[in-house]
Amino acid sequence: MAGTEGEGAPYAFGTSVACMDGRIQEPIRIWMAERFGLTYVDVVTQPGMDGVLAGSTDLGDPELARRMTGISVRAHGSRTVVVSGHHDCAGNPVSRERHIEDIKRAVDAAKSWEGMDGIQVIGVWVNEDWQVEPVT
Ligand SMILES: [Zn+2]
Repeated sequence: MAGTEGEGAPYAFGTSVACMDGRIQEPIRIWMAERFGLTYVDVVTQPGMDGVLAGSTDLGDPELARRMTGISVRAHGSRTVVVSGHHDCAGNPVSRERHIEDIKRAVDAAKSWEGMDGIQVIGVWVNEDWQVEPVT
């Protein structure tokens, strides 16, 4: 992976840990690229990801999400991980308020993973207009 590490790397990776919903991928990618100056955004998806990591749904596998994120961090040098929840989520069909709580718990869970020291973990909500709103 020449060129992804160290000072003056020509491009930077980030990691989106998100629901599989196709409506949210592009808004999150663009938001991350613009906000953090990223070139590429790796995508770790499972249905209702915020609920999966918060432990409030068993549709997904938090261990798999942890391993996938670890690959992005180690192999691609990602230093920015964005954990999201979104409006009209089929995988975690709860209220906006409950999503916000799940996102906060999901961020805490991701921060606790081994190898995440020094990694920026941010929670966001993708609203009914498919706009990204920071939560944490
Ligand atoms: Zn969803």
